[in-house]
Amino acid sequence: MTLRLYRDDAYLLEFEAQVVARLEHEGRPAVVLDRTAFYPEGGGQPWDTGAIGPARVIAVIDAEPGPLHVVEGEVPEGRLSCRVDATRREDHRQQHHGQHLLSRAFVEIARARTVAFHLGAEEVTIDLDRAVDDAAVTRAEDLANEVVARALPVATRSLSAAEAGAHGFKLPQDAGDDVRVVGAAGFDEQPCSGTHPRNTAEVGVIRVLGTERYKGGTRVRFACGRRALQRWRDQSRALAELARSLSAPELETPAAVERLQERVRDLDRALAEARTGLLGHEARALAAEAAPPDGGRRVLCRRFDGREAGDLRELALQVAACGVVALFGGAEAGRAHLVFAQPAGAGLDVPGLLKAALPHVGGRGGGRGDVAQGGGEAVPGLDAALAAASDAAGRAGA
Ligand SMILES: [Zn+2]
Repeated sequence: MTLRLYRDDAYLLEFEAQVVARLEHEGRPAVVLDRTAFYPEGGGQPWDTGAIGPARVIAVIDAEPGPLHVVEGEVPEGRLSCRVDATRREDHRQQHHGQHLLSRAFVEIARARTVAFHLGAEEVTIDLDRAVDDAAVTRAEDLANEVVARALPVATRSLSAAEAGAHGFKLPQDAGDDVRVVGAAGFDEQPCSGTHPRNTAEVGVIRVLGTERYKGGTRVRFACGRRALQRWRDQSRALAELARSLSAPELETPAAVERLQERVRDLDRALAEARTGLLGHEARALAAEAAPPDGGRRVLCRRFDGREAGDLRELALQVAACGVVALFGGAEAGRAHLVFAQPAGAGLDVPGLLKAALPHVGGRGGGRGDVAQGGGEAVPGLDAALAAASDAAGRAGA
């Protein structure tokens, strides 16, 4: 069984060990050591990385009889110098202990319990078992940061399962009889196998980045220590850039964006009106070209390439509004579009006309009453499709 050095000292980064088993993990070589300071993934905290002799440790998986160190490179026999990556370990100490403090603060402030914790490469999250409002989030963040500022000592101790139960700790079923608990003196204590700082001050700062509703509770995204600082820098840079491009003071950028959005909405509206006006002009000119009524109905069968389907439909509707049956087709972006429309009471089976035309473009579509539209990939069949519709309309008579 491997001696787990990280349990007693989260600052131990260099140690000597020897290989007691050589295995594989998901097709990659892995070794078990007689002793290890490498934390294996577990309890929401990712694994450590580092080196065993000349080999690189790229993952550490918890297993029996001891953690599996997945390696790149040769691991020789004999006593080996091992080294845990310091920056990653420090980051994990800060995020994981920050999580303990923030989770405790949510219990104090909102009686919200943490049901899940994830320490990701980018994001750290906790899931709370109930909805908490923004004011409670701010108060919890303040309380957790007060505990950081008070620089409370952090200690670990071992309890038997019975002792842990008597303290009211909820334990997983496989917890065993040696329960490790981690506590910030006088504020929080909970079962945990992770790597923690000696003092709450090492967490630096705890910053809530955002919250969202999640499974009936709340997911809280946050960052601690150096991560929080880096996040501040990134956000400040982004905000400064935004402010520059909006020519607005940083804290007034939301109002500036709102004004911009309003302007875009006004322009969209004006553009839509202008487009409808232009199509109206075009439709009246087209309607004038249609054969004058000789006792029958006026029909205009026409192909318009390069116009999008919505535009073609609007044109057909406007032509129909001028009293002319529109049988329109067009090729656009490698597709054949068909739009048929008739004036109210013109008496044609418009969906039937579309049905006659669609096979020529290998397409699908439908409609009801006076309008039908569809399309397909077979652009070369477009002329034949329009001819079929036109013939069918002619056969339908006056
Ligand atoms: Zn923990």
